[in-house]
Amino acid sequence: MFIRRIGIDLGTVNTLVFVPGKGIVVNEPSMVAISIYDNKVLAVGNQAKEMLGRTPDSIIVSKPLKDGVIADYRVTEAMLRYFINKIIGKIRFFKPEVIISIPAGVTSTERRAVIDAAIRAGAKIAYVVKEPLLAAIGAGIAVHNPLGNMIIDIGGGTSEIAIISLGGVVAAHSARIGGNRLDQAISDYIKHKHGLMIGERTAEDIKIQIGSAIALVKEEYMEIRGRDLTGGLPKVIKISSNEVTESIQDELREIISTIKKVFHETPPELAADVIDKGMVLSGGGALLRNLDQLITKTIGVPCYVADDPLFCVIKGIGKALDNLEMYKRTIMFTK
Ligand code: ADP
Ligand code: MG
Repeated sequence: MFIRRIGIDLGTVNTLVFVPGKGIVVNEPSMVAISIYDNKVLAVGNQAKEMLGRTPDSIIVSKPLKDGVIADYRVTEAMLRYFINKIIGKIRFFKPEVIISIPAGVTSTERRAVIDAAIRAGAKIAYVVKEPLLAAIGAGIAVHNPLGNMIIDIGGGTSEIAIISLGGVVAAHSARIGGNRLDQAISDYIKHKHGLMIGERTAEDIKIQIGSAIALVKEEYMEIRGRDLTGGLPKVIKISSNEVTESIQDELREIISTIKKVFHETPPELAADVIDKGMVLSGGGALLRNLDQLITKTIGVPCYVADDPLFCVIKGIGKALDNLEMYKRTIMFTK
């Protein structure tokens, strides 16, 4: 079977690839391991993540999309090429058409850079679409209706918040704060309060296992391992879910103030629609326990987590690929 169309959710933490008729064929970390002496790509995706925090001086594991924008074009291109090759092989009769999601806040220069990277990586044409629109489509929102919908996509590097109506983004803001910053906040807190240094993977595990946006009535605990700051030796301590809640409050407040900023720029009719239908949360950050409740309580408008929040964008891309002609006219950029 010739693959003529590919969809790529180029996330700051995870890259997903969709092929019509096959579904999601790649779901791997957006990471590349590079040998610094000869600048060679040693591993991409899962294999590169295995190396994270465990590399000798001669290897670095790079996250080319660190804060939601392309921090390193060359590495991004290498990563795109690897994923495209993995799916269609190096020998091709046709070059595929590719749809790629990009953060709503990227500049036209950054947008062109993504398109160029995809073309150099082997695409015939690359369409880029603003991520909140795709997340909304994937969350099952009828984006072409003349009704306001708010989508809040919390990824690893950014939170993208947008009001969508009639197939377009009416108001949007992007905060360079997402799951990664929560991990960092947890690790800083543990360093200051317990004098323990922990790695980024451990911090993420803590967030996923016992994290909650609101303090839990029935606290949960977790044993964690790291390196003692003063003695320098390995050490095990126990931390509680309420400590994790406390450690991430500043970051959550920042996300919520970005939501408020978007509401301030939303025309009243569309704001009224959102009160009726609620706000929709997508992205991996939506899985933080009780985040929907915290947002509902602070904003005063109901907030819901979409089904499969980690897959909203790629599902949206899948629908756009199936209806390429219709979406081409409305939501896509090719330059
Ligand atoms: P991106 O689109 O930027 O690649 P994703 O939407 O894939 O990001 O989400 C990745 C983020 O979601 C990571 O920061 C990860 O730690 C976080 N995440 C995944 N599962 C959970 C969970 N159960 N609780 C809290 N955060 C989670
Ligand atoms: Mg994403």
